Amino acid sequence: MLRDTNSGCMMKSAWVESDAKDTVERYARDGVAADLALRVYSTRLLGRDPRLVLHGGGNTSVKTRMADLLGNDTDVLCVKGSGWDMASIEPSGMPAVRLDALRALRTRDAMPDDEMVRVQRASLLDPMAPNPSVETLLHAFVPHSFIDHTHAAAVLGLIDQPDGRARARDLYGARMGLVRYILPGFGLAKEAAAVFDADPAVEGLILEKHGLFTFGADAREAYERMIDMVSLAEDRLRQNRKSVFVGASLPRDIASVSEVAPLLRGACALPDRAREGDFARLVLDFRTGDAVLAFVNGRDLGRYSQAGVITPDHTIRTKNWPLVVPAPAAGQPGEFREAARQAVTGFIARYTDYFARNNARVGGGRTMLDPAPRVALVPGLGLFGMGRSKKEARIAADLAEAAVATITDAEATGTFESISEAEMFDCEYWPLEQAKLGSAKPLPLAGQVAGITGAGGAIGAATARAFARAGAEVALLDRDIAAARATAAAIGGAALALPCDVTDAVSVREAFARIAGHFGGLDILVSNAGAAWQGKIGDVDEAILRQSFELNFFAHQKVAQAAVKIMLAQGTGGCLLFNVSKQAVNPGPDFGPYGLPKAATLFLVRQYALDYGADGIRANAVNADRVRSGLLTDDFIAQRAQARGVSEKDYMSGNLLHREVTADDVAQAFLAQALALKTTADVTTVDGGNIAAALR
Ligand SMILES: [Zn+2]
Repeated sequence: MLRDTNSGCMMKSAWVESDAKDTVERYARDGVAADLALRVYSTRLLGRDPRLVLHGGGNTSVKTRMADLLGNDTDVLCVKGSGWDMASIEPSGMPAVRLDALRALRTRDAMPDDEMVRVQRASLLDPMAPNPSVETLLHAFVPHSFIDHTHAAAVLGLIDQPDGRARARDLYGARMGLVRYILPGFGLAKEAAAVFDADPAVEGLILEKHGLFTFGADAREAYERMIDMVSLAEDRLRQNRKSVFVGASLPRDIASVSEVAPLLRGACALPDRAREGDFARLVLDFRTGDAVLAFVNGRDLGRYSQAGVITPDHTIRTKNWPLVVPAPAAGQPGEFREAARQAVTGFIARYTDYFARNNARVGGGRTMLDPAPRVALVPGLGLFGMGRSKKEARIAADLAEAAVATITDAEATGTFESISEAEMFDCEYWPLEQAKLGSAKPLPLAGQVAGITGAGGAIGAATARAFARAGAEVALLDRDIAAARATAAAIGGAALALPCDVTDAVSVREAFARIAGHFGGLDILVSNAGAAWQGKIGDVDEAILRQSFELNFFAHQKVAQAAVKIMLAQGTGGCLLFNVSKQAVNPGPDFGPYGLPKAATLFLVRQYALDYGADGIRANAVNADRVRSGLLTDDFIAQRAQARGVSEKDYMSGNLLHREVTADDVAQAFLAQALALKTTADVTTVDGGNIAAALR
């Protein structure tokens, strides 16, 4: 069967002269010269097309003149700064480096990376500017004014083959110089400059197993040559395709993504040796579609998927090879779980071995990164990107999808071939690549997924914010989806708002399946949704009591059951947190309909702690009192204060400490419980002090 992953529209120039002019005029007001403004304009055009650039995989430059800090006119190279995204680059993301200083380096025979970085920084016009790209010297050594560099998918499909050089020569003739594979840095810059010097008429360079550069006298020429070269490769890949990926035999019924993800996620979570009960967990991002399915369902998946990366800088995001697990048959979770664990064990052994072998080759001294996979291929289903955050998982999934397209193209027109294992190691463990990932200390809940009910309300929203700040991915569940969306939008990042009526079994099942499908699983549940009913217990209508039990007891049980199911599938413990009012231990007059189910929920916490402690699942509760919220509205507070003849402030701070308790105080208590790995069956009181409600 022929699967054409390259069937989208042909690449066309996106240059619009009026937009280019607008950009020049807009930046002129900030004193930015026209050539740098146009450099920004076309860099964005490149960065916005995923067929050309993905997640930092490219860079651009312009040679120009500008005044240094002392006012002296200076020849400079403005080159993309590390950490800037080409799609949204600004002139400040193109640091200016003294061109003479960079060019002078070409006379050297070799140069260690750290020295290269220091010289580049020392040559910045503005010492506060970001680090210039690791490919800066290549841009400096080639004389053209405008230089564009991408890892365009179609060009990789053409050149990531054993005879990639010949294919490039055949397609481009003398228009493009060919540079053999070398790790980016000083060596590659020297080699590329030598190839250029051998024929200065070339319009650009093909970098074997890596990508391409195009040159121009102006921004438009360099950009449109890029489009031209990539279009030629796209066109070539459409010709004489052979059928690829003969399908493997798969189970007739495949398990769903929401069932498979927690099993896979659990298998990939590595126990943290330093902290008993903790795991290095990953967040998942699922992708599927015709191209992905054809790829993962192929009989020879074990060969073409394990051949290596499509361009070297993917190694730091995806590792060199994806994890491959067997197809998950529906209704057989135990079998898949075991198979996934075996596959992960094999992956880790292979990775550890790869590291040891190559670390010895380079004389030791490297520290092994965590050996867990970053991409998982699941026949019958699709692929998962994995990372310590949803953002990292999405990046891994984007790169994995790009790899599927490129490998498919290479296999349809020849045979896919990557760089060697040693070359991948040199890239993965290259300090300049590692620097792209940043070295910030991970947040305490990094890699964990928290589901919060009643997340549109005051306490739920505050808790979602607190957990997100602590590094967790948060799913905000609320019957009022607009309120949940508003909170999710304010949190930003990957915060997910979901409609959920916690009293409805179907709604709960759907919401938790969506959490598992979206993030890969669940580690923390904050069962917070609730509402208050009043009535004198001797004559209260039984219907009211039952209604309150539905929300204030049975709903807690429903969501806890759904959460535990996912946690058990993962096998990495978990944490159930319940909002249990002080009413559970200290009844208020005529508040029986509210207090009674809350008392039952307090006992529910203890039952979960007892029944699931052996599985590493903890259950804790927070007893809050008198917090401004949907339950305790400003109007209600005013009435109660007036009834008691006290000011609103005195009413709200009528506790031992005379301090008003806020939703943020409650959120901090939930967070503390989530982090306390040795604490279960705990009730934390957050009420400013109320001796009658103090627990023995
Ligand atoms: Zn590159």
